[in-house]
Amino acid sequence: MAQDTYMGTFDEVSKYNISLNYAERLWLAWYTYMQNDVLATGIMSFVMHEAIYYGRSLMWAIVGMIPYFQKYKIQSAKIPSAYEQWQCAFLVLLSHVTVELPQIWLFHPLCQYFGLSTTVPFPSVYKMAYQIAIFFVIEDAWHYWMHRAMHWGPLYKNIHKIHHQYSAPFGLAAEYASPIEVMVLGFGTVGSPIIWCCITGDLHILTMYIWIVLRVCQAIDAHSGYELPWSLHHFLPFWAGAEHHDVHHERFIGNYSSSFRWWDFVLDTEAGPEASKRRRERKMASMKKAQ
Ligand SMILES: [Zn+2]
Ligand SMILES: [Zn+2]
Repeated sequence: MAQDTYMGTFDEVSKYNISLNYAERLWLAWYTYMQNDVLATGIMSFVMHEAIYYGRSLMWAIVGMIPYFQKYKIQSAKIPSAYEQWQCAFLVLLSHVTVELPQIWLFHPLCQYFGLSTTVPFPSVYKMAYQIAIFFVIEDAWHYWMHRAMHWGPLYKNIHKIHHQYSAPFGLAAEYASPIEVMVLGFGTVGSPIIWCCITGDLHILTMYIWIVLRVCQAIDAHSGYELPWSLHHFLPFWAGAEHHDVHHERFIGNYSSSFRWWDFVLDTEAGPEASKRRRERKMASMKKAQ
């Protein structure tokens, strides 16, 4: 096969790099074939984001069409219409193409500047896993404070209100937000690994990709509107999930964090009737003590 095709390059790369695994050879062939790292990283990032975003959201849209899942819908009276979902999909795509796409070409130079590795072999699964776990924790803290700030009057009215258009969210609504909000909250997702790399000097761009994929899936699932018996929150009680974020959309207040429940718990910003009841009981108890 000719070397000017991707598969031809892959065959050539495979011949001389027998120590690399299949995924590493695919990766090396991509960068060799493209001969332009900025373009190679840019195209890969954009295609990956779109595929994951729309693929995962489509999965939730299909779940919405299956009657079996209706019993797991959190706000069961509010079913998003097909028109609403199409409109949301179109507006998110428009924002991806006009706001995200121009910025994505800065991604490779940014990674190079901060010393992220793009070479093969890849880091071990163990290393990727613990680094990603750290990014989840850092991003969640950033998200909590920035999201909470966005509920302050002027910021809410001018920026965050757009995201709250859907009081009963669905997967596609995860990134339905003002471009300013996408940039501020997106900084937590892109900035956490960059800060980590500045401190440790040890991060592969693949780890960053897997982290972004997991974070995008987390955001979509949190907006899905479905609390399934096998949702992660049932196995990891501190995981936020859909149940946590759905209440935020329903009540417009409380539950500001993204992935975990600890910030809202510790700072007493949990949303929902149970949290209000606990708050009331605490208040009554302290009033009784004061008497
Ligand atoms: Zn909000
Ligand atoms: Zn939301």
